[in-house]
Amino acid sequence: MSQRTFSIIKPDAIRKGHAGAILADIEKAGFRIVAIKKLFISKPQAEGFYYVHKERPFFESLTTFMSSGPIVALVLEKENAIADLRRLMGATNPANAEEGTIRKKYAGSIEENAIHGSDGEETASFEIGYFFAGHELV
Ligand code: GDP
Repeated sequence: MSQRTFSIIKPDAIRKGHAGAILADIEKAGFRIVAIKKLFISKPQAEGFYYVHKERPFFESLTTFMSSGPIVALVLEKENAIADLRRLMGATNPANAEEGTIRKKYAGSIEENAIHGSDGEETASFEIGYFFAGHELV
C-alpha cells in the first residue's frame, strides 16, 4: 500500500549544491514528490521539529545547524516509503553508510549528514503537519 514520508534536504547539502542530485536520487528510487518547498527555519522552529531529541547532548548544535541556512522540505510517496527512504539515506554517521546511499555520497559528518527522513508512521504524520498544510499535498 502506498505510504507517505517526510524528508528534509539539510543546510549542508544545499550549501554544497547537492539538492538537485539528491532529488534525482529520490525520484530514481521511485518516490513521487507530493510536496516540496525551500525555506529557512528559525532556531525555535528547529527545536520544535527535533523536540524528541531535546535531552540529547547534540540538541543545541543540531538545532543551530538546522537553522543555519535554507533547507528543502519534502513529502514523498511510494510503497513502504518510510523504510525505503531510510535505506536510501544510509546510516546516520556517513562513515557507516552503505555505498550508493545519499549520506555516503553527500554527507560530511554525523551531524551535517545531508538528509532527514521520518523514522515511523507517527513521526511522519507529525513532521508532514509541521511543514505543510493539507492543501499543499498534491
Ligand atoms: P537519523 O534518524 O538518522 O537522522 O538520526 P537521529 O534521529 O538519531 O538523529 C537526528 C539527527 O541528529 C541526525 O540526523 C544528525 O543530524 C544529528 N545527530 C545524531 N547523532 C548525533 C551525534 O552523535 N552527534 C551530533 N553532533 N549530531 C548527531
